Amino acid sequence: MKSWISIPDQSDFPLENIPFGICSFGDHISPATRVGDTIIDLSVLADYGYFDSLEIDDLTVFYEPILNPFMSLGKAKTNAVRRFIQELFSADNLDLQSNEEAKSLALFSPEEVDMRMPVFVGDYTDFYSSIEHATNVGVMFRDPANALLPNWRHLPVGYHGRSSSIVVSGTNIHRPKGQTKPQEDQPAVFGPTKQLDFELEMAFITSGETPLGSSVSVEKARDYIFGLVLFNDLSARDIQKWEYVPLGPFLSKSFGSVISPWIVTLEALENFRVAGPVQEPKPMPYLQQNGLNNFDIQLEVYLKPENSEDSLICKSNFKYMYWSMDQQLAHQTVAGCNINTGDLYGSGTISGPTPDSYGSMLELCWKGTKPIQMKDGSERVFIQDHDTITMKAYAKKDGLRIGFGTCQTKILPANNL
Ligand code: CA
Repeated sequence: MKSWISIPDQSDFPLENIPFGICSFGDHISPATRVGDTIIDLSVLADYGYFDSLEIDDLTVFYEPILNPFMSLGKAKTNAVRRFIQELFSADNLDLQSNEEAKSLALFSPEEVDMRMPVFVGDYTDFYSSIEHATNVGVMFRDPANALLPNWRHLPVGYHGRSSSIVVSGTNIHRPKGQTKPQEDQPAVFGPTKQLDFELEMAFITSGETPLGSSVSVEKARDYIFGLVLFNDLSARDIQKWEYVPLGPFLSKSFGSVISPWIVTLEALENFRVAGPVQEPKPMPYLQQNGLNNFDIQLEVYLKPENSEDSLICKSNFKYMYWSMDQQLAHQTVAGCNINTGDLYGSGTISGPTPDSYGSMLELCWKGTKPIQMKDGSERVFIQDHDTITMKAYAKKDGLRIGFGTCQTKILPANNL
């Protein structure tokens, strides 16, 4: 697709993408999209009547400070809006191209706006669906011969997390404090974590509501998946180790998790579907599916020490997931749990098969035993204060690149008690 907006080579945001986000434009906050390096204020397009032909009953969705009302229109409408935007910005379309007044009000450069949380996240689930990650953790902390627990190949293991501390890229996070037990034979101690880690994840955000007591099948799951974001599920490994028995992680993962600001729709990613890994043993019937259920999305993690430059420390891919998003959502609802617009579902740490594709410091540095070198000569086994973690994601095929932008956070020293 060709646009009348210039799109730099290798941009994450060609006309084929059209992600949705929320921007602060200074005097107001409203839904937006991005083409190349141009941010488009959808409230201005609504002001000028551009969406009038789409038969949307309530145009106030384009003036809300969160995307939940827009997403609640349903996929038929939101997809129509996305296609309409693609048409409006096509090279041969003059409707907006020739309207100098509307253009001057609607188009911004990224430097002129602040990205906000795109959705109000009502509920947050985190899965554990990378077999390489689950195996690595099992080898490190339990038994190399039985690294995967007996349930792992039978269901997408997950837990219900904390949604209030999910924040948008650019939000800095203070090093968490808590209880740890550094020595087996010594009492537990309190203080800032010494094992702060990132988790390279993607997350999907649902649109649509289901009634309590109903279930969503694997075949229907994608009707409820609005789109995806990058997700850095920061974790404090030493706090986690002491607290997690028997109910799972608690404060070690609720002090801040960071998402990329643009929700890339499932429709924008259709060209990048690939088959997932063979599942053995065969899952129960409610989890069985055929076809191309994974996505070939390249993932990168960079660590930048203070006053230094980015070092690439991990290259992974979303296609490695053992359990698909459809299976995760089918499992989430099989007992009767209802879902809502704006719910967020983390994939779990996405590790690949090679040591440079592991999606956490825990694995990259193998529990602190293998330091990694930064470009400035310093070494890391976990994240230090003032380090910046940047994640990037993009799918690329046949000359088309669909990307997610960046998911970035800087770690600040622990707050005083
Ligand atoms: Ca996680």
